[in-house]
Amino acid sequence: KKVKATAEPYLFYLPKMQERIAERLAIESGLRRALDEDQFVLYYQPKLDFSTLQIVGLEALIRWQHPEQGMIPPSRFIPILEETGLILKVGEWVLRRALDDAEYLSHQDIKVPRIAVNVSSLQLKQDNFVQVITRLVQARHASVVLDLEITESLLMEDVDININKLEALRHLGVKIMIDDFGTGYSSLSYIARLPIDALKIDRSFVENMTESPNSLSIVTSVISLAHSLNFKVIAEGVETEEQAKFLRLLRCDQVQGFLYGRPEPLHTIADRLIGNALQG
Ligand code: C2E
Ligand code: MG
Ligand code: MG
Ligand code: MG
Repeated sequence: KKVKATAEPYLFYLPKMQERIAERLAIESGLRRALDEDQFVLYYQPKLDFSTLQIVGLEALIRWQHPEQGMIPPSRFIPILEETGLILKVGEWVLRRALDDAEYLSHQDIKVPRIAVNVSSLQLKQDNFVQVITRLVQARHASVVLDLEITESLLMEDVDININKLEALRHLGVKIMIDDFGTGYSSLSYIARLPIDALKIDRSFVENMTESPNSLSIVTSVISLAHSLNFKVIAEGVETEEQAKFLRLLRCDQVQGFLYGRPEPLHTIADRLIGNALQG
C-alpha cells in the first residue's frame, strides 16, 4: 500500500517532466543556431531627462525572432543562455550590435544619445571582460556612448575585483549603472565604494509607489541615497502620470517606461530621435 502511494504521483508527473525537458532541449538547440542565423534583434527604449524631457539615453533590449514562434522575450531565454554559457557570445554580439547601431544613427546626422547595454554575471566575471569592451569601443571612430547596466546582486559578489574592472571601464568613458536597484541586499558601505554613475530604481517600487507607503519610502530613500553619493538616479517602468508627478517632486533625474516610450526597433527610434532634435 505504501509503495503505491509514492509511485503514483511519480508516474503522474513523469510525462509532464519529459515534455518540459524536451521543450527545454529544443530551446537550447534553437539558441545555438540563433546567433549563426541572425535571429536576435535589439529593441531600444528611450530614457528621458526629467527636466528637459529630451531623450538622453537608449537601453538596448534583446529579443529572439524565432522562425516559428515569433518574437520571444528575454525572460524566456536569458536564463538558458546563462546556464549554457552561450551568454558570452550573445553578450558580445549585443555589445557589437549596439555600438554599430550607435554609429548608424550618427551617420543619419542624429545626435546619438548614450546607449545602455545589460551585462550578465558570467560576462562580468570573465577575466578578459574589460579587454573585450576596450576592443569593441576602440574599434570605432565615434566617441564612446556606451553605458553598462549591471544588477545589484552581481556587483556585490567579488566587490574588490569588480571595483577594478569598473574603474578601468570608466577610464574608457563607459558609464556604469546599477540595474533593478532595491531588489538586492547590498550593504551601504559597498555601494559608496563602487565606482558607478547611476542607480536605476526597480520597476516594482515605481509600480506601487502611489499606493504603497513602503514602496514610496523606498523610492524616496533610493533617490536621496543616490544624490548624496553623487550618483544619478533613473526610475524604470514609469507607466502613469501620477507616478511621474511623484518622481518629479522627489527630483528623480531620468525616467524610462511605457509612459515615455516602449522598446522599439532601431528605425522607429531613429525617427523619434529626429523629432526629438527638432523639438529641442
Ligand atoms: P531590465 O534591464 O530591468 O529592463 C527593463 C524591462 O522592463 C524590459 O523588459 C522593458 O521592456 C520593461 N519595461 C520598461 N518599461 C516598462 C513599463 O513601463 N512597464 C512594464 N511593465 N515594463 C517595462 P524586457 O525587454 O523583457 O527585458 C527583461 C530583462 O531581460 C531586462 O530587464 C534585462 O535584465 C534582461 N535583458 C534584456 N536584454 C538583455 C541583454 O542584451 N543582455 C542581458 N544580459 N540581459 C538582457
Ligand atoms: Mg536594464
Ligand atoms: Mg532594470
Ligand atoms: Mg528590471
